[in-house]
Amino acid sequence: MQIAGQTNVTSIRFGSGSVNGIGKDLGRFVVATMELPWSITEGKLGADPVAVLMVESMEQEFVDQQVASAPPCDTVVGIGGGQAIDLAKYFAWKKGCRLVTIPTVISVDAFVTPAAAVRQNHRVLYVGESSPDPLIIDYDLIRTAPSDLNVAGAGDLLSIHTATFDWEVAHRAGKSEYPYSQDDIQTARAILETVAENASEIRALSDRGLRTIVEGYMRVNTICLPAGHYRVEEGSEHFLFYELEERLKKPFIHGQIVGLGIYVMSRLQKNRVEWITSLMDELGLRYQPVDMGIPKDAMVASLQVLEPFTRKRGLWYSQIQETPLDLAQIEGLLRGLRF
Ligand SMILES: [Zn+2]
Repeated sequence: MQIAGQTNVTSIRFGSGSVNGIGKDLGRFVVATMELPWSITEGKLGADPVAVLMVESMEQEFVDQQVASAPPCDTVVGIGGGQAIDLAKYFAWKKGCRLVTIPTVISVDAFVTPAAAVRQNHRVLYVGESSPDPLIIDYDLIRTAPSDLNVAGAGDLLSIHTATFDWEVAHRAGKSEYPYSQDDIQTARAILETVAENASEIRALSDRGLRTIVEGYMRVNTICLPAGHYRVEEGSEHFLFYELEERLKKPFIHGQIVGLGIYVMSRLQKNRVEWITSLMDELGLRYQPVDMGIPKDAMVASLQVLEPFTRKRGLWYSQIQETPLDLAQIEGLLRGLRF
């Protein structure tokens, strides 16, 4: 199907088995992937690639060498999770060739965003611009990934709950960094409503549930790409995650750690706490600190320094600036969490 509205996805194919035989229509193609996703898709493409690039490192220098040494091709196909898709996006941008993306898990939104995430000295950098044609959402393929990871894909949609609230807070305080748009906030909240209406489908990872997540990401893009920022889905819940990541120096599953941020920040905001918490529970999103190996003292320390942290990092104005936290308040925010 062709895509209406502003998104970077040129065309999309939904359906179980939609990956079958795709290799026949791509001319000479290079695959960017990892061992596991490649092992489950290799036999389905119906044609052989001229080269297979395995994700080894996303350091830009390394990726540049990989791209430069690849044989000439018409198309690059990204098969896998975020990094494989990012490698393909980067390749397509550098070479100016056609991009096809086949996510095998939908835990992150890399497959609908235009820029590729690469690293320079271990810091993430977003570069280039690319549009998949088509993006292929093969439900059966995606269901081969661990279900916790796919459910976590809803995390960046749920963050609309706290992020839009933060934008309203910033607007009221006269501190919004961007022209405030009530329309964008309403449109984003409608996406969140769709997630809530389809919660049991998402939990079950039915075709409809997976499609809800993918379309949710694309609808977020139709708001954020024209606006030039992601304020409707990135706010205080993400900022807490940035601090925890820097503090604990370990990787997290994005949607899960964002879920923890939503739990805490919806309480700080006094923002429909029961509703969003039961929605996360209904989806089966794992947001408990115990699931992610986050000790309570780290969590407390993180919240104690969060306000200066967001200022130092130049992060957007949010509820964090409005409510200075003492220890008793932090205890209150963490009630119900398991460490
Ligand atoms: Zn996010």
